[in-house]
Amino acid sequence: MKQLILKPGREKSLLRRHPWVFSGAVARVQGDPEAGDSVALRAAGGEFLAWAAYSPASQIRARVWSWEEKERIDGDFLRARLRRALGARERLLSADDSDALRLAHGESDGLPGVIADRYGDVVVLQLLSAGAERWRSELADAVRELTGCACVFERSDADVRALEGLPAKSGVLHGALPAAGVQLREHGLAYGVDVAAGHKTGFYLDQRDNRKRIGALARGREVLNCFCYTGGFTLNALAGGAKSVLSVDSSADALAQAQENLCRNELDAARAEWQDADVFKYLRALRDQGRSFDLVVLDPPKFAPTAAFAEKAARGYKDINLLALKLLRPGGLLASFSCSGGVSAELFQKILAGAALDAGVDASIVGHFAAAADHPVLLSFPEGDYLKGLLLRRG
Ligand code: SAH
Repeated sequence: MKQLILKPGREKSLLRRHPWVFSGAVARVQGDPEAGDSVALRAAGGEFLAWAAYSPASQIRARVWSWEEKERIDGDFLRARLRRALGARERLLSADDSDALRLAHGESDGLPGVIADRYGDVVVLQLLSAGAERWRSELADAVRELTGCACVFERSDADVRALEGLPAKSGVLHGALPAAGVQLREHGLAYGVDVAAGHKTGFYLDQRDNRKRIGALARGREVLNCFCYTGGFTLNALAGGAKSVLSVDSSADALAQAQENLCRNELDAARAEWQDADVFKYLRALRDQGRSFDLVVLDPPKFAPTAAFAEKAARGYKDINLLALKLLRPGGLLASFSCSGGVSAELFQKILAGAALDAGVDASIVGHFAAAADHPVLLSFPEGDYLKGLLLRRG
């Protein structure tokens, strides 16, 4: 029997249905499991707790597949979990919102380490844990069958794979990518998506609702969109009637895709300005030029993957937010995001309070942002609540 016996008292988090077992909680490993094998988790006294995927290289030594002792972890089990995830998304989005959707969101869908994003007829699969890796072909088959999509493409090349001792992998698992490229429509806007080389699975689906809100706030405003990637907030602001949008990113590829996305839509390119620059430096340049804006969006990459990086991340967030607040005209809005799992919503708000204080401006919270509904947060897994944002109004 392959099993992990926990140290006394270390079953508490599992009894609260938190799906991770850290290495320090494990007393003994029995039955010589290999990476990705299913193991029974047992309390020190021998009681069954859960079935989990074993990951000997990771600090997260095991991730729970099921709390039911009678369950068998196999292709049928995974198919049922995926079917449940798909069912949970029915009627979350209206058809005119988007044709792109996160179908499976890892732990929060009972599928630790499994991400599946749908872009029209293409599903991009990310396998981020040893357990997910073990079931690659079963997962790919189930995704194809349940969605009927022509292509399943794998993007298992996120940094977190290294923590699981897994090499980066990327490529077609079923079918072929469409010759004309992958596209999506969201809030009436069209985007090209580079599923092979873009960030994450190609697009930041989690920001869907927030892009719409920015569009609704943009009318008549001079907008600065920092960390613009392929232009999501930019296009929504232009479509929403922004007077102008200055978009900044340090990736030439992302900016090229963003400009192509602008051309795909009937938007006035004359109102858009693009800047290839490091935001940290460029905000200072804008300050020195005496520029000001009515709406600033800050959507930086993850500064703190875990809480261990929180302090360094806090300095980064404070720096850009302080500069952004100074660039705002009185009454202007700052939409400021953090996708760092290691920075809580509470800490993020404190960082922004410090930034406003040091910038010498009064600011109020006039809105909160979170990930879209196809990125659920299981209540027993608060780590899933990574994307947070505040809408601030400068006094
Ligand atoms: N708002 C986007 C997603 C932003 S992702 C959307 O809705 O689609 C973060 C972006 O920040 C990436 O495009 C990355 O290229 C860019 N980036 C990372 N570090 C940067 C820096 N120091 N200066 C400018 N851009 C940076």
